[in-house]
Amino acid sequence: MRAEGVGRGLWGVGCAPWAWATVGAGPAGAGSRLHAYQYEGVTAVPEETTARPHAPASSEAASADTPAAGPGVLLVTGGGRGIGAATARLAGRRGYRVCVNYRSDEASALAVVDGIRGDGGTAVAVRADVTRGAEVERLFRTVDRELGTLTALVNNAGTLERQARLEELDEERLARIWAANITGPFLCAGAAVRRMSSRYGGRGGAIVNVSSAASRLGSPNEYVDYAASKGALDSMTRGLALEVAAEGIRVNAVRPGLIHTGIHALGGEPGRVDRVGPQLPMGRGGEPEEVAECILFLLSPAASYATGTFLDVAGGR
Ligand code: NAP
Repeated sequence: MRAEGVGRGLWGVGCAPWAWATVGAGPAGAGSRLHAYQYEGVTAVPEETTARPHAPASSEAASADTPAAGPGVLLVTGGGRGIGAATARLAGRRGYRVCVNYRSDEASALAVVDGIRGDGGTAVAVRADVTRGAEVERLFRTVDRELGTLTALVNNAGTLERQARLEELDEERLARIWAANITGPFLCAGAAVRRMSSRYGGRGGAIVNVSSAASRLGSPNEYVDYAASKGALDSMTRGLALEVAAEGIRVNAVRPGLIHTGIHALGGEPGRVDRVGPQLPMGRGGEPEEVAECILFLLSPAASYATGTFLDVAGGR
């Protein structure tokens, strides 16, 4: 039950997504058709048998990978909001064909896609929970099919929970934090390596992990679990970078400090950046766009000899 014709109609160059969606709308309107596509593309795509692991899924994908097609195909996990959204928008302006992954906030993801397309770029939104292996595989197969061969991955999706001391953290919370901040990036990095690595016939690429200054600071009395999960992501960044350094893939990380996004509300303090910002060396919190610039730099050829390294984007903290 493939929906390739639907996908091209929805996201193909020169086609206004909302106009298409309106024409094809089900009873609930444009959103329902889009949702239906995403259901087919992400949830109901049948398992595919590939003779060669994760080669481009279609000839259309391969033909889209000409140099004239721009810097390539970028997947941003958690690209609907905050740092991920800023990264997706900037990448769209720089000519990447962008997949905006989201887990639950469909409206925000679609707004990012709409913005990229409004600027003349190419983007798709794909729902997938990156903590679940089957959904990650479907997400990457959708990227193969709709955008072409992946050249860049930003492991941005992440979460934290209410501020608490370590002795208050229970097993369930720890499992959620490890899943979102460690398992998700591992699963996505693995799927990216199987597409990018020369070991599998790929043409290389770049991965940027969105870690946190918390991995250095430990986040005492707030979320040591979150900090530890970002420490694990730092270790993965280093280990994977060395593992694939000779296979055409660079792996780096940014470590943002306090950035104005909605994530702080999850910790129970939406105004945290405004409270702590003035105490930072630069006297303020950061903007998502300031992190996005650093991510795009690490993805770009300007960083061609940088791998296994960390760019702190924390206002001097
Ligand atoms: P945000 O505004 O809360 O956005 C988080 C994004 O991650 C959302 O788009 C969310 O999707 C997505 N997400 C969460 N769990 C997911 C899952 N299991 N599968 C797919 N997507 C998932 O947060 P942010 O501040 O931009 O954070 C982005 C990254 O930066 C995180 O890794 C965070 O740890 C890191 N970071 C942030 C700061 C900061 O101060 N903001 C500092 C250091 C590091 P939905 O919208 O669909 O739910």
